[in-house]
Amino acid sequence: PVHPLVGKTAGSAALHEEAARYLPGGVTANIKYFDPYPIAMDSASGARMKDVDGNEYIDYNLCYGALILGHGDPRVKRAVLEQLNRMGTTVLGTPHRLEVDMARTLVELYPGIDTVRFTNSGLEATLLAIRLAMAWTGRPKLAKFEGHYHGGYDQVLISVHPKRRSENRLPSVHPDSRGIPDYYLKNTVVLPFNDLDGTEEILRRHGHELAAVIIEPVQGGFIPPKMEFLKGLREMTRACGALLIFDEVKTGFRVGLSGAQGRYGVIPDLTALGKVLGGGFPVGAVGGRREIMDICAPSARSSDILSIGSQGKESRASDTLFHSGTYNGHPTVLAAGMATIEALRRPGVYAEVEKAAEALRAGMEEILKRNGVPGQTVGVGSIFNLVLDEGPINQIQDILRSELSLRRRIDYALLDQGIYVKPLNRFSLSTAHTPDVIEETLDRFERGVKQTVKGR
Ligand code: PMP
Repeated sequence: PVHPLVGKTAGSAALHEEAARYLPGGVTANIKYFDPYPIAMDSASGARMKDVDGNEYIDYNLCYGALILGHGDPRVKRAVLEQLNRMGTTVLGTPHRLEVDMARTLVELYPGIDTVRFTNSGLEATLLAIRLAMAWTGRPKLAKFEGHYHGGYDQVLISVHPKRRSENRLPSVHPDSRGIPDYYLKNTVVLPFNDLDGTEEILRRHGHELAAVIIEPVQGGFIPPKMEFLKGLREMTRACGALLIFDEVKTGFRVGLSGAQGRYGVIPDLTALGKVLGGGFPVGAVGGRREIMDICAPSARSSDILSIGSQGKESRASDTLFHSGTYNGHPTVLAAGMATIEALRRPGVYAEVEKAAEALRAGMEEILKRNGVPGQTVGVGSIFNLVLDEGPINQIQDILRSELSLRRRIDYALLDQGIYVKPLNRFSLSTAHTPDVIEETLDRFERGVKQTVKGR
Protein backbone atom coordinates (compact mmCIF):
# COMPACT_ATOMS: atom_id res chain seq x y z
CA PRO A 1 0.00 0.00 0.00
CA VAL A 2 1.14 3.55 -0.72
CA HIS A 3 1.89 5.45 2.44
CA PRO A 4 -0.44 8.46 2.26
CA LEU A 5 2.00 10.27 4.52
CA VAL A 6 4.85 10.23 2.03
CA GLY A 7 5.52 13.89 1.41
CA LYS A 8 4.75 15.15 4.86
CA THR A 9 6.94 12.62 6.70
CA ALA A 10 10.27 13.24 4.97
CA GLY A 11 12.01 13.35 8.36
CA SER A 12 10.72 9.86 9.25
CA ALA A 13 11.85 8.55 5.87
CA ALA A 14 15.33 10.00 6.32
CA LEU A 15 15.65 8.72 9.88
CA HIS A 16 14.53 5.26 8.78
CA GLU A 17 17.14 5.21 6.05
CA GLU A 18 19.84 6.14 8.57
CA ALA A 19 18.45 3.67 11.12
CA ALA A 20 18.61 0.82 8.62
CA ARG A 21 22.39 1.24 8.50
CA TYR A 22 22.75 0.43 12.19
CA LEU A 23 19.61 -1.52 13.13
CA PRO A 24 18.32 -4.54 11.16
CA GLY A 25 15.26 -3.29 9.33
CA GLY A 26 15.81 0.08 10.95
CA VAL A 27 13.85 -0.88 14.07
CA THR A 28 14.48 -2.09 17.62
CA ALA A 29 11.46 -4.41 17.59
CA ASN A 30 9.90 -6.12 14.58
CA ILE A 31 6.42 -4.93 15.49
CA LYS A 32 7.52 -1.30 15.22
CA TYR A 33 7.93 -1.58 11.46
CA PHE A 34 5.28 -0.87 8.85
CA ASP A 35 5.43 -0.14 5.12
CA PRO A 36 7.13 1.78 3.61
CA TYR A 37 8.73 3.11 6.81
CA PRO A 38 7.44 3.68 10.33
CA ILE A 39 6.72 7.20 11.56
CA ALA A 40 9.33 8.39 14.04
CA MET A 41 7.93 10.39 16.92
CA ASP A 42 9.79 13.14 18.68
CA SER A 43 7.69 14.13 21.69
CA ALA A 44 4.35 13.54 23.34
CA SER A 45 2.01 14.97 25.93
CA GLY A 46 -1.36 13.72 27.19
CA ALA A 47 -3.22 12.10 24.29
CA ARG A 48 -0.97 13.56 21.60
CA MET A 49 2.34 12.78 19.91
CA LYS A 50 4.38 14.87 17.51
CA ASP A 51 6.54 13.27 14.83
CA VAL A 52 9.99 14.39 13.72
CA ASP A 53 8.43 16.54 10.99
CA GLY A 54 6.16 18.34 13.43
CA ASN A 55 2.93 16.52 12.44
CA GLU A 56 0.60 16.01 15.38
CA TYR A 57 -1.32 12.78 16.12
CA ILE A 58 -3.87 11.67 18.69
CA ASP A 59 -2.22 8.52 20.04
CA TYR A 60 -4.30 5.34 20.24
CA ASN A 61 -1.30 3.03 20.50
CA LEU A 62 -0.06 4.47 23.81
CA CYS A 63 3.05 2.32 23.73
CA TYR A 64 0.98 -0.81 23.11
CA GLY A 65 -1.48 0.00 25.86
CA ALA A 66 1.03 0.76 28.61
CA LEU A 67 0.22 4.45 29.09
CA ILE A 68 -3.21 4.38 30.69
CA LEU A 69 -2.66 7.89 32.10
CA GLY A 70 -1.53 9.20 28.71
CA HIS A 71 1.89 10.67 27.93
CA GLY A 72 3.92 12.44 30.58
CA ASP A 73 1.41 12.37 33.42
CA PRO A 74 2.76 14.98 35.87
CA ARG A 75 2.14 12.73 38.92
CA VAL A 76 4.25 9.97 37.41
CA LYS A 77 7.03 12.31 36.30
CA ARG A 78 7.12 13.93 39.74
CA ALA A 79 7.29 10.55 41.50
CA VAL A 80 10.23 9.47 39.34
CA LEU A 81 12.16 12.69 39.90
CA GLU A 82 11.46 12.66 43.64
CA GLN A 83 12.59 9.04 43.88
CA LEU A 84 15.83 9.78 42.02
CA ASN A 85 16.55 12.82 44.17
CA ARG A 86 15.64 11.20 47.49
CA MET A 87 17.55 7.99 46.75
CA GLY A 88 20.53 9.88 45.32
CA THR A 89 21.14 7.24 42.67
CA THR A 90 19.32 5.52 39.82
CA VAL A 91 19.31 1.99 41.21
CA LEU A 92 20.49 0.31 44.41
CA GLY A 93 20.98 -3.34 43.49
CA THR A 94 19.82 -4.39 46.96
CA PRO A 95 16.44 -5.01 48.62
CA HIS A 96 14.59 -1.74 49.25
CA ARG A 97 11.36 -0.35 50.71
CA LEU A 98 9.53 0.30 47.43
CA GLU A 99 9.65 -3.29 46.19
CA VAL A 100 7.98 -4.44 49.39
CA ASP A 101 5.33 -1.72 49.07
CA MET A 102 4.63 -2.59 45.43
CA ALA A 103 4.49 -6.32 46.18
CA ARG A 104 2.01 -5.69 49.01
CA THR A 105 -0.10 -3.55 46.67
CA LEU A 106 -0.28 -6.37 44.09
CA VAL A 107 -1.13 -8.93 46.79
CA GLU A 108 -3.95 -6.68 48.04
CA LEU A 109 -5.39 -6.04 44.58
CA TYR A 110 -5.05 -9.40 42.79
CA PRO A 111 -7.03 -12.30 44.28
CA GLY A 112 -4.70 -14.86 42.62
CA ILE A 113 -1.51 -13.33 44.03
CA ASP A 114 -0.06 -14.29 47.46
CA THR A 115 3.56 -13.35 46.70
CA VAL A 116 5.38 -11.65 43.85
CA ARG A 117 8.61 -11.57 41.86
CA PHE A 118 9.49 -8.58 39.66
CA THR A 119 11.04 -8.76 36.19
CA ASN A 120 11.95 -6.18 33.53
CA SER A 121 9.32 -7.05 30.92
CA GLY A 122 6.09 -8.89 30.32
CA LEU A 123 8.05 -11.49 28.39
CA GLU A 124 10.21 -12.35 31.38
CA ALA A 125 7.10 -12.56 33.55
CA THR A 126 5.37 -15.22 31.44
CA LEU A 127 8.70 -17.03 31.08
CA LEU A 128 9.11 -17.27 34.87
CA ALA A 129 5.45 -18.27 35.33
CA ILE A 130 5.92 -21.16 32.89
CA ARG A 131 9.14 -22.30 34.58
CA LEU A 132 7.39 -22.23 37.95
CA ALA A 133 4.61 -24.41 36.52
CA MET A 134 7.10 -26.88 35.03
CA ALA A 135 8.94 -27.11 38.36
CA TRP A 136 5.76 -27.40 40.43
CA THR A 137 4.15 -30.14 38.34
CA GLY A 138 7.25 -31.89 37.00
CA ARG A 139 5.43 -32.14 33.67
CA PRO A 140 7.01 -31.44 30.25
CA LYS A 141 4.36 -29.68 28.15
CA LEU A 142 2.66 -26.31 27.91
CA ALA A 143 -0.74 -25.51 26.43
CA LYS A 144 -1.38 -22.09 24.93
CA PHE A 145 -4.17 -20.59 22.85
CA GLU A 146 -4.13 -19.89 19.14
CA GLY A 147 -3.54 -16.18 18.51
CA HIS A 148 -2.36 -15.42 22.06
CA TYR A 149 0.91 -13.54 22.52
CA HIS A 150 3.03 -13.98 25.64
CA GLY A 151 6.37 -12.54 24.49
CA GLY A 152 8.83 -13.35 21.72
CA TYR A 153 10.61 -16.47 22.99
CA ASP A 154 10.80 -20.10 21.89
CA GLN A 155 8.23 -21.64 24.20
CA VAL A 156 5.34 -19.33 23.30
CA LEU A 157 6.15 -17.93 19.86
CA ILE A 158 3.92 -20.63 18.48
CA SER A 159 0.60 -20.25 16.61
CA VAL A 160 0.32 -16.56 17.52
CA HIS A 161 -0.23 -15.68 13.85
CA PRO A 162 -1.94 -18.81 12.55
CA LYS A 163 -3.18 -19.59 9.08
CA ARG A 164 -6.90 -19.61 8.43
CA ARG A 165 -8.50 -22.93 9.18
CA SER A 166 -11.96 -24.26 8.52
CA GLU A 167 -14.27 -23.91 11.47
CA ASN A 168 -14.60 -27.59 12.34
CA ARG A 169 -10.86 -28.19 12.63
CA LEU A 170 -8.75 -27.70 15.75
CA PRO A 171 -5.69 -25.41 15.82
CA SER A 172 -2.27 -26.74 14.88
CA VAL A 173 1.25 -26.06 16.10
CA HIS A 174 3.15 -23.50 13.97
CA PRO A 175 6.34 -21.57 14.79
CA ASP A 176 5.97 -17.79 14.34
CA SER A 177 9.68 -17.27 13.81
CA ARG A 178 12.72 -18.87 12.33
CA GLY A 179 15.00 -20.45 14.90
CA ILE A 180 12.42 -22.09 17.19
CA PRO A 181 13.80 -25.51 18.12
CA ASP A 182 11.64 -28.57 17.35
CA TYR A 183 11.71 -29.39 21.03
CA TYR A 184 9.24 -26.58 21.77
CA LEU A 185 6.96 -27.47 18.88
CA LYS A 186 6.77 -31.03 20.20
CA ASN A 187 6.07 -29.90 23.74
CA THR A 188 3.42 -27.30 23.00
CA VAL A 189 -0.29 -27.92 22.69
CA VAL A 190 -2.41 -25.26 20.95
CA LEU A 191 -6.00 -24.65 22.04
CA PRO A 192 -8.95 -22.73 20.48
CA PHE A 193 -9.96 -19.61 22.49
CA ASN A 194 -13.60 -19.32 23.56
CA ASP A 195 -14.25 -22.88 22.33
CA LEU A 196 -14.96 -24.98 25.40
CA ASP A 197 -15.70 -28.20 23.51
CA GLY A 198 -12.56 -27.96 21.36
CA THR A 199 -10.45 -27.14 24.42
CA GLU A 200 -11.96 -30.02 26.37
CA GLU A 201 -11.29 -32.46 23.54
CA ILE A 202 -7.60 -31.50 23.46
CA LEU A 203 -7.21 -31.42 27.24
CA ARG A 204 -8.75 -34.89 27.50
CA ARG A 205 -5.93 -36.11 25.27
CA HIS A 206 -3.03 -34.07 26.70
CA GLY A 207 -4.15 -32.87 30.15
CA HIS A 208 -2.05 -35.40 32.09
CA GLU A 209 1.25 -34.18 30.54
CA LEU A 210 0.58 -30.44 30.83
CA ALA A 211 2.44 -28.31 33.35
CA ALA A 212 0.18 -25.37 32.61
CA VAL A 213 -2.34 -23.72 30.37
CA ILE A 214 -1.39 -20.12 29.69
CA ILE A 215 -4.04 -17.71 28.42
CA GLU A 216 -4.67 -14.05 27.71
CA PRO A 217 -8.01 -13.86 29.56
CA VAL A 218 -9.00 -11.13 27.08
CA GLN A 219 -7.44 -12.13 23.75
CA GLY A 220 -5.14 -9.44 22.44
CA GLY A 221 -6.63 -7.21 25.13
CA PHE A 222 -9.86 -6.84 23.14
CA ILE A 223 -11.72 -10.13 22.50
CA PRO A 224 -13.71 -10.86 25.66
CA PRO A 225 -13.83 -14.38 27.06
CA LYS A 226 -17.17 -16.13 27.22
CA MET A 227 -17.87 -16.57 30.92
CA GLU A 228 -18.70 -20.27 30.64
CA PHE A 229 -15.47 -20.77 28.69
CA LEU A 230 -13.25 -19.09 31.30
CA LYS A 231 -14.99 -20.86 34.19
CA GLY A 232 -14.88 -24.18 32.32
CA LEU A 233 -11.15 -23.77 31.66
CA ARG A 234 -10.54 -23.14 35.38
CA GLU A 235 -12.37 -26.37 36.24
CA MET A 236 -10.71 -28.44 33.52
CA THR A 237 -7.17 -27.34 34.41
CA ARG A 238 -7.82 -28.14 38.06
CA ALA A 239 -9.16 -31.58 37.10
CA CYS A 240 -6.13 -32.49 34.97
CA GLY A 241 -3.57 -31.08 37.41
CA ALA A 242 -2.23 -28.37 35.09
CA LEU A 243 -1.73 -24.88 36.50
CA LEU A 244 -3.75 -22.04 35.02
CA ILE A 245 -1.60 -19.03 34.14
CA PHE A 246 -3.31 -15.72 33.36
CA ASP A 247 -1.13 -13.52 31.19
CA GLU A 248 -2.46 -10.18 32.42
CA VAL A 249 0.33 -8.13 30.84
CA LYS A 250 -2.31 -6.23 28.85
CA THR A 251 -5.37 -6.64 31.09
CA GLY A 252 -3.61 -5.95 34.41
CA PHE A 253 -4.62 -2.46 35.64
CA ARG A 254 -6.37 -2.03 32.26
CA VAL A 255 -9.72 -3.79 32.60
CA GLY A 256 -9.75 -2.75 36.24
CA LEU A 257 -7.44 -2.38 39.26
CA SER A 258 -7.58 -6.15 39.79
CA GLY A 259 -7.23 -7.11 36.13
CA ALA A 260 -9.28 -9.73 34.34
CA GLN A 261 -9.33 -11.97 37.43
CA GLY A 262 -11.08 -9.16 39.30
CA ARG A 263 -13.42 -8.36 36.44
CA TYR A 264 -14.50 -11.94 35.70
CA GLY A 265 -14.05 -13.56 39.11
CA VAL A 266 -11.99 -16.47 37.77
CA ILE A 267 -8.80 -16.92 39.78
CA PRO A 268 -5.64 -18.37 38.17
CA ASP A 269 -2.79 -20.17 39.95
CA LEU A 270 -0.19 -17.78 38.50
CA THR A 271 -0.45 -14.29 37.05
CA ALA A 272 1.91 -12.35 34.79
CA LEU A 273 1.79 -8.55 34.80
CA GLY A 274 3.61 -5.81 32.86
CA LYS A 275 2.83 -2.71 30.78
CA VAL A 276 0.64 -0.39 32.95
CA LEU A 277 2.39 -1.66 36.10
CA GLY A 278 5.58 0.17 35.03
CA GLY A 279 3.90 3.53 34.44
CA GLY A 280 5.80 3.87 31.15
CA PHE A 281 9.02 2.18 32.30
CA PRO A 282 10.10 -1.42 31.63
CA VAL A 283 8.65 -3.85 34.12
CA GLY A 284 6.98 -7.20 34.66
CA ALA A 285 5.81 -9.22 37.63
CA VAL A 286 4.78 -12.77 38.42
CA GLY A 287 2.51 -13.53 41.30
CA GLY A 288 0.60 -16.56 42.46
CA ARG A 289 -0.19 -19.12 45.09
CA ARG A 290 2.35 -18.92 47.91
CA GLU A 291 3.34 -22.60 47.85
CA ILE A 292 4.11 -22.44 44.13
CA MET A 293 5.96 -19.12 44.28
CA ASP A 294 7.99 -20.44 47.22
CA ILE A 295 9.94 -22.81 45.00
CA CYS A 296 11.96 -19.84 43.80
CA ALA A 297 12.82 -18.82 47.37
CA PRO A 298 16.58 -19.20 47.72
CA SER A 299 17.85 -21.45 50.44
CA ALA A 300 21.15 -20.56 52.10
CA ARG A 301 22.98 -23.22 50.14
CA SER A 302 21.60 -22.29 46.74
CA SER A 303 21.50 -18.52 46.84
CA ASP A 304 24.71 -18.02 44.97
CA ILE A 305 24.55 -19.81 41.66
CA LEU A 306 28.05 -18.64 40.82
CA SER A 307 29.46 -20.79 43.60
CA ILE A 308 28.18 -24.04 42.12
CA GLY A 309 31.12 -26.36 42.00
CA SER A 310 32.76 -24.97 45.07
CA GLN A 311 29.93 -26.47 47.13
CA GLY A 312 29.53 -29.97 48.45
CA LYS A 313 27.71 -32.78 46.63
CA GLU A 314 24.47 -32.34 48.55
CA SER A 315 24.16 -28.61 48.00
CA ARG A 316 23.16 -27.85 44.45
CA ALA A 317 21.72 -24.60 43.10
CA SER A 318 19.20 -26.59 41.08
CA ASP A 319 17.37 -27.60 44.26
CA THR A 320 15.53 -24.33 43.91
CA LEU A 321 14.07 -22.55 40.92
CA PHE A 322 16.50 -19.91 39.77
CA HIS A 323 15.18 -16.47 39.02
CA SER A 324 17.32 -13.37 38.80
CA GLY A 325 17.87 -10.06 37.02
CA THR A 326 20.25 -7.15 37.50
CA TYR A 327 17.46 -4.59 37.36
CA ASN A 328 14.61 -6.59 38.97
CA GLY A 329 12.55 -4.40 41.28
CA HIS A 330 14.15 -1.26 39.87
CA PRO A 331 13.25 1.54 42.33
CA THR A 332 12.85 4.29 39.71
CA VAL A 333 10.52 2.06 37.69
CA LEU A 334 8.52 1.04 40.74
CA ALA A 335 8.13 4.69 41.76
CA ALA A 336 6.49 5.35 38.36
CA GLY A 337 4.32 2.26 38.80
CA MET A 338 3.22 3.20 42.32
CA ALA A 339 2.27 6.72 41.19
CA THR A 340 0.28 5.20 38.31
CA ILE A 341 -1.60 2.79 40.58
CA GLU A 342 -2.30 5.61 43.02
CA ALA A 343 -3.81 7.68 40.21
CA LEU A 344 -5.89 4.70 39.05
CA ARG A 345 -7.23 4.16 42.57
CA ARG A 346 -9.11 7.46 42.53
CA PRO A 347 -12.82 6.62 42.39
CA GLY A 348 -14.39 6.79 38.95
CA VAL A 349 -11.18 6.70 36.90
CA TYR A 350 -11.92 3.43 35.11
CA ALA A 351 -15.58 4.39 34.56
CA GLU A 352 -14.44 7.61 32.92
CA VAL A 353 -11.97 6.01 30.50
CA GLU A 354 -14.46 3.29 29.66
CA LYS A 355 -17.13 5.90 28.95
CA ALA A 356 -14.75 7.62 26.55
CA ALA A 357 -14.07 4.27 24.84
CA GLU A 358 -17.81 3.59 24.54
CA ALA A 359 -18.43 7.01 23.00
CA LEU A 360 -15.59 6.54 20.53
CA ARG A 361 -16.72 3.04 19.58
CA ALA A 362 -20.33 4.10 19.08
CA GLY A 363 -19.23 7.08 16.99
CA MET A 364 -16.90 4.98 14.85
CA GLU A 365 -19.58 2.36 14.20
CA GLU A 366 -22.01 5.11 13.21
CA ILE A 367 -19.45 6.54 10.77
CA LEU A 368 -18.77 3.11 9.23
CA LYS A 369 -22.49 2.60 8.69
CA ARG A 370 -22.95 6.08 7.22
CA ASN A 371 -20.16 5.37 4.73
CA GLY A 372 -21.27 1.87 3.79
CA VAL A 373 -18.35 0.02 5.39
CA PRO A 374 -19.51 -3.18 7.11
CA GLY A 375 -17.74 -3.53 10.44
CA GLN A 376 -17.80 -3.26 14.20
CA THR A 377 -15.65 -2.47 17.20
CA VAL A 378 -14.76 -5.28 19.59
CA GLY A 379 -13.35 -4.56 23.00
CA VAL A 380 -13.27 -4.66 26.77
CA GLY A 381 -13.03 -1.53 28.90
CA SER A 382 -10.56 0.97 27.48
CA ILE A 383 -9.13 -1.19 24.65
CA PHE A 384 -10.91 -2.17 21.47
CA ASN A 385 -10.21 -3.12 17.89
CA LEU A 386 -11.86 -2.21 14.61
CA VAL A 387 -12.98 -5.37 12.83
CA LEU A 388 -14.37 -5.09 9.31
CA ASP A 389 -16.80 -7.96 9.57
CA GLU A 390 -20.27 -8.14 11.01
CA GLY A 391 -20.25 -11.71 12.38
CA PRO A 392 -19.49 -12.67 15.99
CA ILE A 393 -15.82 -12.17 16.93
CA ASN A 394 -14.71 -14.81 19.42
CA GLN A 395 -11.14 -15.65 18.45
CA ILE A 396 -8.26 -15.03 16.04
CA GLN A 397 -9.89 -17.01 13.22
CA ASP A 398 -12.79 -14.53 13.14
CA ILE A 399 -10.28 -11.69 12.73
CA LEU A 400 -8.52 -13.54 9.90
CA ARG A 401 -11.85 -13.83 8.10
CA SER A 402 -12.43 -10.04 8.26
CA GLU A 403 -11.49 -7.42 5.62
CA LEU A 404 -7.88 -6.91 6.67
CA SER A 405 -6.68 -5.15 3.52
CA LEU A 406 -9.45 -2.52 3.73
CA ARG A 407 -8.68 -2.14 7.43
CA ARG A 408 -5.05 -1.50 6.58
CA ARG A 409 -6.00 1.16 4.04
CA ILE A 410 -8.21 2.87 6.61
CA ASP A 411 -5.34 2.81 9.13
CA TYR A 412 -3.04 4.58 6.68
CA ALA A 413 -5.73 7.20 6.04
CA LEU A 414 -6.08 7.62 9.82
CA LEU A 415 -2.35 8.25 10.12
CA ASP A 416 -2.75 10.84 7.38
CA GLN A 417 -5.57 12.47 9.36
CA GLY A 418 -3.54 12.51 12.59
CA ILE A 419 -4.78 9.42 14.39
CA TYR A 420 -1.86 7.25 15.46
CA VAL A 421 -2.58 3.53 15.32
CA LYS A 422 -0.14 0.79 14.41
CA PRO A 423 -1.77 -0.60 11.23
CA LEU A 424 -4.12 -3.50 12.13
CA ASN A 425 -3.49 -2.93 15.81
CA ARG A 426 -5.79 -2.16 18.72
CA PHE A 427 -7.01 1.21 19.93
CA SER A 428 -6.07 1.92 23.56
CA LEU A 429 -7.41 4.90 25.47
CA SER A 430 -6.06 6.84 28.43
CA THR A 431 -7.40 9.25 31.02
CA ALA A 432 -6.04 12.00 28.73
CA HIS A 433 -8.57 10.99 26.04
CA THR A 434 -11.20 13.45 27.27
CA PRO A 435 -14.58 14.01 25.54
CA ASP A 436 -13.20 16.84 23.37
CA VAL A 437 -10.34 14.58 22.21
CA ILE A 438 -12.88 11.86 21.36
CA GLU A 439 -14.94 14.35 19.35
CA GLU A 440 -11.86 15.48 17.44
CA THR A 441 -10.93 11.84 16.82
CA LEU A 442 -14.35 11.11 15.35
CA ASP A 443 -14.02 14.06 12.94
CA ARG A 444 -10.62 12.77 11.84
CA PHE A 445 -11.92 9.20 11.67
CA GLU A 446 -14.77 10.20 9.37
CA ARG A 447 -12.39 12.07 7.09
CA GLY A 448 -10.09 9.02 7.03
CA VAL A 449 -12.92 6.62 6.21
CA LYS A 450 -14.26 8.92 3.46
CA GLN A 451 -10.77 9.25 2.01
CA THR A 452 -10.45 5.43 1.93
CA VAL A 453 -13.89 4.76 0.49
CA LYS A 454 -13.38 7.39 -2.23
CA GLY A 455 -10.11 5.75 -3.25
CA ARG A 456 -11.69 2.31 -3.64
N1 PMP B 1 1.94 -10.87 27.18
C1 PMP B 1 1.02 -10.06 26.62
C2 PMP B 1 -0.42 -10.40 26.75
C3 PMP B 1 1.44 -8.91 25.94
O1 PMP B 1 0.53 -8.12 25.37
C4 PMP B 1 2.81 -8.62 25.86
C5 PMP B 1 3.31 -7.37 25.14
N2 PMP B 1 2.57 -6.97 24.05
C6 PMP B 1 3.72 -9.49 26.47
C7 PMP B 1 3.24 -10.59 27.13
C8 PMP B 1 5.19 -9.23 26.43
O2 PMP B 1 5.49 -8.10 27.18
P1 PMP B 1 6.84 -7.27 26.90
O3 PMP B 1 6.67 -6.68 25.52
O4 PMP B 1 6.88 -6.26 27.99
O5 PMP B 1 7.97 -8.23 26.99
